[in-house]
Amino acid sequence: MSLSFDPDRLPLPIGHFIGDRLIPAANATEGGLPMHRPSDGRAYADCPVASSDLVDEAVAAAQAALKSSNWGGVRPRDRTAVLQRWAALIEEEAETLAKVEALSSTRPVGQLVAGDVAVTAEQIRFFAEFADKEGGDLAPTDDGSLGMVMTEPYGVVGAITPWNFPLSMAGWKLGPALAAGNAVVLKPSEMTPFSTVLLAQLAVKAGLPAGLINIVQGDGPTTGAAITRHPGIAKVSFTGSTAAGSAIMADIARSGVKPMTLELGGKSPQIVFADADLEKAAAAIATSVLSNAGQACVAGSRLLVEASVAEPLIGMILGHMRAVRPGPTWDETTRYSPIISERQRARIHSIVTASLTGSVECLSGGAPMDSDGYFYAPTLIAGVDQTSPAVMEEIFGPVLTVQSFDSEEEAMAMADHPTYGLAAGLYTRDLSRALRLTRRLQAGTVWVNRYGRSRDHILPTGGYKRSGIGKDLGREAYLANRRSKSVLIGL
Ligand code: NAD
Repeated sequence: MSLSFDPDRLPLPIGHFIGDRLIPAANATEGGLPMHRPSDGRAYADCPVASSDLVDEAVAAAQAALKSSNWGGVRPRDRTAVLQRWAALIEEEAETLAKVEALSSTRPVGQLVAGDVAVTAEQIRFFAEFADKEGGDLAPTDDGSLGMVMTEPYGVVGAITPWNFPLSMAGWKLGPALAAGNAVVLKPSEMTPFSTVLLAQLAVKAGLPAGLINIVQGDGPTTGAAITRHPGIAKVSFTGSTAAGSAIMADIARSGVKPMTLELGGKSPQIVFADADLEKAAAAIATSVLSNAGQACVAGSRLLVEASVAEPLIGMILGHMRAVRPGPTWDETTRYSPIISERQRARIHSIVTASLTGSVECLSGGAPMDSDGYFYAPTLIAGVDQTSPAVMEEIFGPVLTVQSFDSEEEAMAMADHPTYGLAAGLYTRDLSRALRLTRRLQAGTVWVNRYGRSRDHILPTGGYKRSGIGKDLGREAYLANRRSKSVLIGL
């Protein structure tokens, strides 16, 4: 069975999804946003934009569904069962989900069925299992009282997701919020809006009471802001850029007070010591900046290498870079992704060119690829220092900078980014050094002798510094979707 498909013939669920209804664009929008396929630049649809009235409707549907289904108050195991059925349906419909995802996004269809789609189903299952395992606590008090900490869902949670892994980002938000007994109003990125609608339709098919997931489409300033400011939304969970995260914090501060989880940008270092397995390190580093063409929050885009092994390591990474072949995301054999938009590709190129000053050398790439799609050549920039734009800015493209060091102290000083602290990679065979430096690294995740998330959803993900507040995945993400109430009973 081939997963390759004709992009002109793929049916798309264009619209918002409220309750159990797909609301087509024409009935509910104030002008759509033109969408182009990243793989060939062709215009193919308009993303509808939900007005604040439609967001009101979505919140009202969520509140009504919580009331009529008593989702937060049913036996937790009943929530688990519905979410498990949903995960199974996601697996059954993997091919359709993968194709819709591949058309709009930068994710090649050949990586989606066993990759992002399977991961999304696993995430839903993982969180479903928490529903009856995380309760409150009895609190120690004097013997004339009984103290306890109860936990409860928030009610309606607002979620806003980015375009780089649309399905699994939706899974990060929907899984814990629903398992914890909440309803969700989710806005996917305006560049990748449709796969999330399919996900929501499957949830209703699996028996999730209609209205517990509502998808509203639109841009950040219109629809996103209507969600974050909405008085009926009790908590906001956001994944996206640090700039948008700051805007959301300010909006929330102005419009009311509510908890938020912010998963934001990164500029993660990869620190390689001379005693590391260089071939393995080179493969992990190359994968981290080439996979999804570097459009990952945890892309390890700053290589810091001990000077004595810089040359062989760079040679090996260049070998991986030279091997990439661009292709459309709807071709099953494609492994190298386009950039999401012409605008984003122009931004990558402007940061690269602004960085090529003085003795800075571009050892690979440094330019858009010759193609109708928005491909950018794998780029390796050497000779940069800490002030270079390529080192300081989150590029979100297939660009790796190289700096070398002679001591641990020097490596740690360079690793410490003034803005970001999302992840870091360490490569060494010296276990005590690995543990010593892991403690010092200012990052929410440290990978040692490997790079990138595993499928162990138990490990929370989130940033230090301006890479974010709070965690997705893990027990923390489940608990962040419930609030505690302290109870003291006089006996
Ligand atoms: P973005 O910030 O431009 O948009 C993300 C989402 O926020 C979109 O749905 C957008 O419409 C919405 N949005 C934008 N401004 C808003 C506002 N003022 N109010 C409400 N909503 C608003 O990010 P992007 O370009 O879609 O994604 C790339 C960014 O996401 C990168 O910075 C990347 O590092 C980050 N990211 C972080 C993680 C993580 O786990 N930390 C994971 C994936 C992506």
